[in-house]
Amino acid sequence: MTLTQQYNEHCTHCGMCIEVCPMYRNIDLIDELCSYLDGNCEQVTSEDIFRCLTCGLCVQACPEDLSLKKLITTARASWVKIHGMREEHTIVDPCSGNNLFVAMSSISKPAVFLENKDEGAVVYYPGCAAGYINTSIAAATINILECAGVDYTVLSGVSHCCGAVSAGSGNRELMEEMGRKNVAEVKRRGAKTLITSCPGCYRAFADMYPRVFGDLGFEVLQMSQYLKRLIEEKKIVPQQVLDHRVFYQDPCHLTRSVGIYEEPRDVISSMPGTHLVNESHESSKCCGFGGSVRATYPSESLKLASLQIETAKDMGCDVIVTNCPGCMQNLVEAGMNYDDSDDSIMVYDLTEYVSMSLGFAVVRNDREMIDSVNQAYCNVITGYCKPEI
Ligand code: SF4
Ligand code: SF4
Repeated sequence: MTLTQQYNEHCTHCGMCIEVCPMYRNIDLIDELCSYLDGNCEQVTSEDIFRCLTCGLCVQACPEDLSLKKLITTARASWVKIHGMREEHTIVDPCSGNNLFVAMSSISKPAVFLENKDEGAVVYYPGCAAGYINTSIAAATINILECAGVDYTVLSGVSHCCGAVSAGSGNRELMEEMGRKNVAEVKRRGAKTLITSCPGCYRAFADMYPRVFGDLGFEVLQMSQYLKRLIEEKKIVPQQVLDHRVFYQDPCHLTRSVGIYEEPRDVISSMPGTHLVNESHESSKCCGFGGSVRATYPSESLKLASLQIETAKDMGCDVIVTNCPGCMQNLVEAGMNYDDSDDSIMVYDLTEYVSMSLGFAVVRNDREMIDSVNQAYCNVITGYCKPEI
């Protein structure tokens, strides 16, 4: 049975997917997309297809195991075959002339990995975002690896992009090409474990690559899982009291995509002095960054991040911890709205938060980071304007 036959037969048009969706309001889109995929509809526009955050909220809500996302991701691949990639989506392609991270490295300093060895039991894979935008995440990770005495090597750089974002934009071939190269390099370095900062990179290594290449021959962990292990094995002992009420922002691509909900919460709860307010993930929402929506619809993207900040403030929190460089970028930028108020809220990546509890300082210049990344977007996307928050 084809995908559209499944929808024609089983979708009850109950609207539960639309009810939870932060971006679409029109239930007719389901029939329009089915018609488009069957080659009968001229009316579907790139706007219809590319507003999706790929957050998976509709997947979770659909009682028939269908959802809007499944239709949209298939329609994206089909749209890209006919029209090619939109400019906003080639910015993560390592081979494109408008790569965001190359532009970023000409504006601000990428993460520097001192004394990087060529081999190690653990490969740390910071990904493009932590390598070029949120470099403090990579710095905090290195501090923790050094503190724990881990035998590690770093695999970084635009030429080692994971390809997950390109796959989400409809270009699966690039993901496969990058996967072949990345997996070979991890094996060459003799690693038994690969750890990633970014949920997208984790999904590439843990889910996308094995579907194409089979068993990779090494373990893949997202940083939250690895931090939990280091704490349980007492390789690191968080001791500094972090007296905060923390809201944990579940990254969509770590939760609904690959099912990691508990490890980050376990890590946060084990920090001395910290009170985690949202122990359950059940009402978690998207920060607005994913699916290339931050690049394509920046103001709407940041409005969704602002809603998450409001939720955290309503719960009496002074800190948001997330576990994804994309969530971090959006929450930091949206949070600048509150900079001058008494009730400003700090945003940390989980790795930064743990590193503070180990006594390391987190050195960041958020204003400079946000100005630089907006400048980089301007340089690589025609007509891009810094969003009003
Ligand atoms: S939630 Fe599922 S069954 Fe209901 S309208 Fe959406 S796709 Fe159809
Ligand atoms: S994945 Fe998220 S943004 Fe996309 S259709 Fe589903 S709920 Fe909406």
